[in-house]
Amino acid sequence: MALIVHKYGGTSMGSTDRIRNVAKRVAKWVRAGHQMVVVPSAMSGETNRLLGLAKELSPASTTPEVMRELDMIAATGEQVSVGLLAIALQAEGVPSVSYTGWQVPVSTDSSYTKARIESIDDKRVREDLAAGRVVVVAGFQGIDADNNITTLGRGGSDTSAVAIAAAMKADECLIYTDVDGVYTTDPRIVPEARRLHTISFEEMLEMASLGSKILQIRSVEFAGKYRVPLRVLSSFTPWDIDINEEAKSGTLISFEEDEKMEQAVVSGIAFNRDEAKVTLLGVPDKPGIAFQILGPVAEANIDIDVIIQNVSHDGKTDFSFTVHRNDYARTMELLQNTVGPATNAAKVMGDPKICKVSIVGIGMRSHVGVASKMFRALSEEGINIQMISTSEIKTSVVIDEKYMELAVRALHKAFDLDQEQAGA
Ligand code: ASP
Ligand code: MG
Repeated sequence: MALIVHKYGGTSMGSTDRIRNVAKRVAKWVRAGHQMVVVPSAMSGETNRLLGLAKELSPASTTPEVMRELDMIAATGEQVSVGLLAIALQAEGVPSVSYTGWQVPVSTDSSYTKARIESIDDKRVREDLAAGRVVVVAGFQGIDADNNITTLGRGGSDTSAVAIAAAMKADECLIYTDVDGVYTTDPRIVPEARRLHTISFEEMLEMASLGSKILQIRSVEFAGKYRVPLRVLSSFTPWDIDINEEAKSGTLISFEEDEKMEQAVVSGIAFNRDEAKVTLLGVPDKPGIAFQILGPVAEANIDIDVIIQNVSHDGKTDFSFTVHRNDYARTMELLQNTVGPATNAAKVMGDPKICKVSIVGIGMRSHVGVASKMFRALSEEGINIQMISTSEIKTSVVIDEKYMELAVRALHKAFDLDQEQAGA
């Protein structure tokens, strides 16, 4: 008998028929002798609908007071899901009980709309499991120290599931979703993209942070920190497929690099259209300038991604960085009104129509010439690179948004990702 956590995304929970299917699948795992905790998302479209209602009443809703209420509202989506799934399980003859985040409780900090989980008290859940019940826990939500309801950011149910699996030392956390695993890149852009049987935790972390929307990045961080065995698999296989086959399907996020079967140098191509670039021209090149620019940005709670500072000329330099596109207007305002004047910048420029394309692979550690191969492939397509950033296992370029698909296709081909790798 194992303790297993299943997570079902919004599409998998999208209608009562689908919820019934989820219940049948979970019931199959129960009959195989497992203890089950199930973490569903809100029914697809529901979180958008709820937040849309709030927006109708307060279009520019960013005050802390409004943010608190947004979490209050958004958390109800998952509350409906857990209740429905518990009923569906009971209808299958499986004893089941549902909990919201605060009932568990899942304790978080107070950053509304992007709260971080601080701890999970699993006592109540364990008692239910011991009593033979399937426990259905609402994803995406928690409660802060002052009993305010919080949510974990869009896509946060992944993180809820992994955090619960970590807290309970579950044997495995299975993320059921509308794709059947992690691909070398998005098959909607490159039809030849292949599903990876395994991907290392570090690669998955890069892929998630670089824009692959399969898993919320924080869920991968949790999985890494607590070494939670994690698998991404399809919720659209028939619920009654053989459980052993199901348990091996999808993509395993593995920790054992040596056992990594696919020995490609580059494992995947990630991309992200959600960024925007801002530039300060002609700032004095002196100690503290980067801090003077980025300090206020960080204080405004704006995440910074790629940063470039040019070589100086005549004591002046140019400074560019990227932010999430949602933060673009706010960042421009900050630079134009505050940071620009304070640093004596000659000019503030911005470009929201950029994207970031990245190659990812732990094989890059031990191979040279990988980045130059990337740059050659892009130059052969006539694509201009605006910014470059690297880590041990990835190289990212910022390019004009209109070349994104072309770049992804060219790189997928250049690194032979359409071919099954030797040893796979
Ligand atoms: N329902 C939330 C969202 O749409 C959380 C999730 O689905 O993971 O973002
Ligand atoms: Mg999701």
